[in-house]
Amino acid sequence: MGIEEKLPAGFLLSTVENVAGYMRKYSVWPATFGLACCAIEMMAVGTPDYDIARFGMERFSATPRQADLMIVAGRVSQKMAPVVRQVYDQMPEPKWVISMGVCASSGGMFNNYAIVQGVDHIIPVDIYLPGCPPRPQMLLNAILELHDQIQNTKLGVNRQEAARAAEAAALKA
Ligand code: SF4
Repeated sequence: MGIEEKLPAGFLLSTVENVAGYMRKYSVWPATFGLACCAIEMMAVGTPDYDIARFGMERFSATPRQADLMIVAGRVSQKMAPVVRQVYDQMPEPKWVISMGVCASSGGMFNNYAIVQGVDHIIPVDIYLPGCPPRPQMLLNAILELHDQIQNTKLGVNRQEAARAAEAAALKA
């Protein structure tokens, strides 16, 4: 009897996915990207006090082409929106987005024509982090939540296309 007959169906694939998820979640490189005051708290997680390096994230990437996490830290102005989208598009799949702070998630107190009322109008968001500003510990907690999502991401799934399909389905409904 061959080994494939002895193992439960899907055993090998799910094991590979688990290993890939484990490797991915402990090697996330965030894009160097700050928009407003929340970015100061984001920068703090790189200091020895909070030590983001213990999650394999000590390297903030200066090029989006070598980054797989965008932390949108601060309000997004209408003028900045196309730049945010372009940076996101330049990041390779699979990629993730944390919307850090109430301004990035909903416009916050800036309910006016100059500010995008939620960065999810321009890019898909995986984690919404509340607060004004969220403390570095809260950002670390959001990163741990993201780890769960990364661990459960299926191999070979283009998340951007899946998000587009979900968007189109929601518009039809
Ligand atoms: Fe600044 Fe608060 Fe808005 Fe963050 S949520 S960008 S700290 S005003």
